[in-house]
Amino acid sequence: MQVIFLGAPGTGKGTQAKRLAQRFGAEHISTGDILRDAIKENTEMGRKAKIFMDAGNLVPDDIILGIIKEELLTKGNKGFIFDGFPRTTAQAEGLDRMLRDLGMSISKVINLNVPDEVIVNRLKSRVLCDNCGTDYNMQIRPPKISDKCDVCGGELYRRSDDAADIIENRLKVYRQKTKPIEDFYRSKGLMAEIDGNRNCDEVFDSIAKAVAG
Ligand code: AMP
Repeated sequence: MQVIFLGAPGTGKGTQAKRLAQRFGAEHISTGDILRDAIKENTEMGRKAKIFMDAGNLVPDDIILGIIKEELLTKGNKGFIFDGFPRTTAQAEGLDRMLRDLGMSISKVINLNVPDEVIVNRLKSRVLCDNCGTDYNMQIRPPKISDKCDVCGGELYRRSDDAADIIENRLKVYRQKTKPIEDFYRSKGLMAEIDGNRNCDEVFDSIAKAVAG
């Protein structure tokens, strides 16, 4: 299984991609998670990426394609679910070239659709576990103890790019830079449109059907 998740920030890509990877024993590859780990470890790449991420802008394509090449070479064999990649036409074209060289291909692209006002509410109420990455919505799906993760007891935090003005910019960047690649995958007949504005299990069932079909 080689799947790409498209969809604006806050449409549920991370949650659904992790679940799909678990169900099918594929590798979950989130460029956002890899970059946040690099920032935590204070690597050169992390320090560079942080400047773009803090402003809600995209990290340059050459950095992202370098990450993906490494991930595909080390983990690509058992199948992969890309979450948050590709985000530009140059990334989609770069991925195509890499896959061709490796004799691989994409089997499905999941496009998660959620109205902007729902996205903004979700991101403003989102907290995540510092340790295991589980995410909560303080309004509709809060943790049992307010600042502790239900799964592992880890500390909960808010992403700094979930601040209102940065959310606005991330949505704008999505419309300008990422939306155009929808047509790239539509023209290849790979795209499945999924209504992401439903409960988590319903969304997952639709995705599982789409990747099986
Ligand atoms: P995410 O966790 O997917 O919401 O990504 C958080 C931030 O990481 C984004 O706002 C970008 O700054 C950066 N980022 C993640 N993936 C990419 C990508 N494929 N291309 C460029 N920037 C990315």
